[in-house]
Amino acid sequence: MIKQPANEPSSTRQQRGQGLQLTYGYGTDRGLRRELNEDSYIASDPVFAVADGMGGHEAGEIASGMCIRALAAMPQLTTGDRTATAAVLQQYLAYADDSIREATGARAGTTLTGAVVLEQMGLPYWLVMNIGDSRTYRLSRDRLEQISVDHSEVQELVDAGKITAQQARVHPRRHVVTRALGTGDETEVDYWLFPVEEGDRIMVCSDGLTSEVDDEHIFHILATEGQPQEAVDALIQAALRNGGSDNVTVIVVDARNVLYDDGAATTLPRRDAAAEDETTLQ
Ligand code: MG
Repeated sequence: MIKQPANEPSSTRQQRGQGLQLTYGYGTDRGLRRELNEDSYIASDPVFAVADGMGGHEAGEIASGMCIRALAAMPQLTTGDRTATAAVLQQYLAYADDSIREATGARAGTTLTGAVVLEQMGLPYWLVMNIGDSRTYRLSRDRLEQISVDHSEVQELVDAGKITAQQARVHPRRHVVTRALGTGDETEVDYWLFPVEEGDRIMVCSDGLTSEVDDEHIFHILATEGQPQEAVDALIQAALRNGGSDNVTVIVVDARNVLYDDGAATTLPRRDAAAEDETTLQ
């Protein structure tokens, strides 16, 4: 599913095959204050990514759409192969950066974050990428972890110990990103590579979610909603209930049937986080 902004009903897709099974849901909403939806996304095994465009007069929509279309051109999307690498991904993102600059005169840019599933030596990995302040999280073994690190002015203030993460969410300059594709001088994308574990739940979102819903609430929804699409819908509704001041886009991907070294797949159910006594948000 490749999508440019529109408020269409979303649905769940499931990929079945030998070994790793990915179940995923996705959705986007214009929100309650914005006239346009400048977010774009792709949710198609093995690529799950959200781009949040910036620049007025539909330019943001053009930028995020071009970025997602560049990813959609990866041959792995047609073949379903899990053969991507960070180097390959980087080539497509460099192309996206060039294309946006050419189309908009570098007046528009976009964030990008998400996960690409790849295999090395027969084992599956999440390759997480990020530039800007959209985010990728992982719920694993009942812990929620923000994988991506924002490229934003407020993140720099948090890193310097000048404000807390909580203060960053309401800071007047919270929307200022320090890296983006298509505009500015800082275009370096960060990457993380880590093994897919049984029961992993990856959540990719634009800042329209994280500026309205705190991590504890996100954790609660991800840990208690069964199906990925139910989690997506609940997260978007939470963002709208809390103000919906920005476009909000969410993808949730569940990994099951992860093969281990002995070739055996585990069928351990994910534990119910709501039944745990302690809060394990980290
Ligand atoms: Mg946004």
